Amino acid sequence: MDNARAWRVLSRKARWLTAGAVTVLLAVPATAAASQASVSTSLAPAASAACPWVTSHAPVSQRVAQLMSQMSLADKITMVEGHGTSNPYVFYTPAIPTLCIPAVGLEDGPAGVADGLTGVTQLPAGVALAATWDPSLAGQYGQVIGAEEYGKGASANLGPTVNIDRDPRWGRSFEALSEDPGLNAALDVPEIAGVQSQDVEAQVKHLAVYNQETYRNTPADNVIIDPRTEHEIYLPSFYAAVKSGSASVMCSYAVINGDFACNNANLETTILRDQWGYPGFVMSDYGALHSTQGAVQGTDQEQPFNTYYGTALQTAIQNGTIPISVLNTMVQRVFTQMFRFNLFSQPRTGSPTDTVTTPAHVALATDVAEAGTTLLKNDGGVLPLSSSGGSIAVVGPAADASPVYAGGGSAYVIPSGTVSPLAGIKAAAGSGTNVSYSQGLPTDTSLPSIPSSNLTPAYAPTPFGGSYTGTLTAPETGTYVLAITNPCGCYTSTYLSLDGKQIIDDPSTPPVHTYSVAVSLTKDQTYTLAISGASSQLLWGTPSALAPGINAAAAAAKTASVAVVVVSDDTQSEATDRLSLNLPSAQDELISAVAAANPHTVVVINAGAPVAMPWLPAVAGVVDAWYPGQTSGTSLAGVLFGQTDPGGHLPVTFPVSLSQVPASTTAQFPGNGSTVQYSEGVDVGYRWYDAKDIAPLFPFGYGLSYTRFAFSHLSVSPGFKDGTRDVRVSATVTNVGHRAGSEVAQLYLADPSASGEPPRQLAGFQRVSLGRGASAKVSFTVTPQEMSWWNETANGWTQTAGTYQVYVGDSSALAGLPLRGSFTIATTAGARQVTVSAPSTMRPGQAAAVRVTLTAGGDATLNAVRLALQLPEGWTAKPTGPTNFGSVAPGRAPSVTFLVTPPGYAPNASAVVHATATTGDWLREAGATVTVSG
Ligand code: BGC
Repeated sequence: MDNARAWRVLSRKARWLTAGAVTVLLAVPATAAASQASVSTSLAPAASAACPWVTSHAPVSQRVAQLMSQMSLADKITMVEGHGTSNPYVFYTPAIPTLCIPAVGLEDGPAGVADGLTGVTQLPAGVALAATWDPSLAGQYGQVIGAEEYGKGASANLGPTVNIDRDPRWGRSFEALSEDPGLNAALDVPEIAGVQSQDVEAQVKHLAVYNQETYRNTPADNVIIDPRTEHEIYLPSFYAAVKSGSASVMCSYAVINGDFACNNANLETTILRDQWGYPGFVMSDYGALHSTQGAVQGTDQEQPFNTYYGTALQTAIQNGTIPISVLNTMVQRVFTQMFRFNLFSQPRTGSPTDTVTTPAHVALATDVAEAGTTLLKNDGGVLPLSSSGGSIAVVGPAADASPVYAGGGSAYVIPSGTVSPLAGIKAAAGSGTNVSYSQGLPTDTSLPSIPSSNLTPAYAPTPFGGSYTGTLTAPETGTYVLAITNPCGCYTSTYLSLDGKQIIDDPSTPPVHTYSVAVSLTKDQTYTLAISGASSQLLWGTPSALAPGINAAAAAAKTASVAVVVVSDDTQSEATDRLSLNLPSAQDELISAVAAANPHTVVVINAGAPVAMPWLPAVAGVVDAWYPGQTSGTSLAGVLFGQTDPGGHLPVTFPVSLSQVPASTTAQFPGNGSTVQYSEGVDVGYRWYDAKDIAPLFPFGYGLSYTRFAFSHLSVSPGFKDGTRDVRVSATVTNVGHRAGSEVAQLYLADPSASGEPPRQLAGFQRVSLGRGASAKVSFTVTPQEMSWWNETANGWTQTAGTYQVYVGDSSALAGLPLRGSFTIATTAGARQVTVSAPSTMRPGQAAAVRVTLTAGGDATLNAVRLALQLPEGWTAKPTGPTNFGSVAPGRAPSVTFLVTPPGYAPNASAVVHATATTGDWLREAGATVTVSG
């Protein structure tokens, strides 16, 4: 086993102790062996004439049924249980050669092939992709991930992460896309298509309402959320993903209104299957399944263990507690996707040790990083830098001594090679420009231990679950850096507290194990330092130890034409939430000292989420380069020197401080130890700032360019006055500056106030690149869905009549929205819903009556209403009356009965009979689960 593999397996094993409910998981046999003997760890299935489903051209549903008819109960269990952590892929089901079933390897994740594999491309983080606002780049990003997963022999990619960035402290913000459901959805759909274009299944994650790490996978992360907020904010990115054909969904660590996400019938069955008609399969996150009933509730596969779906599920089936139709349904869903992705007929030949990165993949990483780089401040045109003369003082550990390319945890990808910011700047600077480098601060790992002369009792390493408490006497007054190392590699927090206040939460995820923080201490005062959890080092930097480095950086800056301070936050990771928005170490002090020495100071931030900027007024420029992936320096230099316009726009709001954020109370984030109240409701992200009239540091959607753009010629073409048609909006964007550049035109919609919706919501965007003086027409489509809100009484979408304001510009703040228009909907279909009434059981090959009705309601007479059914492959439906209704008055409820016949080969399993009612661009949908039996 090479080092990377050893590291990976170790970290996975250690994670097993901690990722979930510890007491339950510890009861699992360490080998987590499969329940039967016929499995194999070979990837390729044995070719066999006895396996006609492999080469058959029959419909997939028929091949699945044929295969399932040959399977024993134990075989079926093999397909739904986890097989431990000693497999070639992080999640895995082994081959069953006798049935020609191939092994299936699933691998993280959202920013490239992760889990400690090498020879791969480390792409920019999800948040950097989101900052591009470019669906086409998202598609290419997905293609690279898919191609590299395929090359590694993996059949599925565990990504993208499409959870909402509810709070900037969430440790996984970097890995997710945005605080806005629409931007999320607009990017996750092409990314999934890109992954799946490579014959690799996408597994969109984590369904749902998973927005913090604190308390994850425990009952204390019990999110109390209302259905309206859930449907309008936290579910649309998943809805878009599954409607676009994502092969699978990962259920999350969250508890939602009392039920763990992987044991949540409302989420996994009522919403996902019945309302949305999702045919793919649901897999548990690592240890996120909490009972065997998950089979009934909607989780199809347990990973990576078999605590609940191994012997426990087998026994439940044998003694009849859980019907066999439930297991058949799970297996059927898994196989359907395996056939769809040709896993039977084209066995994967790649291996985890293969090198899959290519120059083209690396170039795409650079393109995405450049397009996402976001210019937040550029006073006096300090940027772009000149590459022909002058001098640049590059400052900061993050510039070269310890650059940060990516966030931590299961999303961390090992780069195939790196370009540090300094290396990139040097390469682009040209021979006439002098580039100096001052580290400014020690790297965290090079800090010295706190000596016993200042700490009583002397620090000694603490074991897993251990603790240390000591008294620190400060030898001088000033800013200190404190740091701890958590060596366990186990995704489990070690806390450092100062006088009872937690100041570091270090989860020991890859790639960073030493976390630091800056604190102000006073000479001769004593402080209580406490560690809880595993630790191997307690380090510090005193003011006088830090001063020479900071002073040298300031001196270098003073004599340079411009100073570029690269700072980073390397503490953003899975398994931890940030305790504050401050940069680690004494980076704030470093920036302030450099800015005081040189008014032409530019700060470059490598972080996956907003950071506090106490020094903002003192610096001339700020560039947020996010976590840019392995070619950080190349993309940064491209933007700094103006070879590329910094076209990124913020996919999240940057608050001034934590006192501004929507979830600012402990009850809201991270919860009080028993519940997490999502009481801000739909006012998440910019919706909150707008609703409360709070000016953030930088608004959602904001981003500067080296050129300037003007917006004009707003045109709003309402369709019908009854809200059933798309509204077309267009505007002209003109580059009125002196150079080429790119802009993200954004459309925000304000619903009539009676709807109770936030003041404005993103309803469209378009990124355009324009030469100097050039104009482009940008076009948006506002769909009836975007004019709808979730009505809890009706348990469905509704619309409000009235005037809808349209705003177009380049950020969510009113000041950034120069174009204003409106359209009016006079009448609407209101809260009409479609309903499906079907027998709970149907027989293969036999017709049964299914009634579809559009309920009465609203005040609009609807024209050309169509009722339709969407059925699994092989099923047929014959309407017994008209399905099209020319004119439907508000009090009328059109209805039709279909004779629905499952195919004769349908296995004893459940299926969703899904129905839609449509008129124009308006849609309602619903479904009912039926069991095929007999
Ligand atoms: C993470 C998932 C990841 C899985 C497998 C879990 O801890 O939450 O996002 O896909 O591990 O690595």
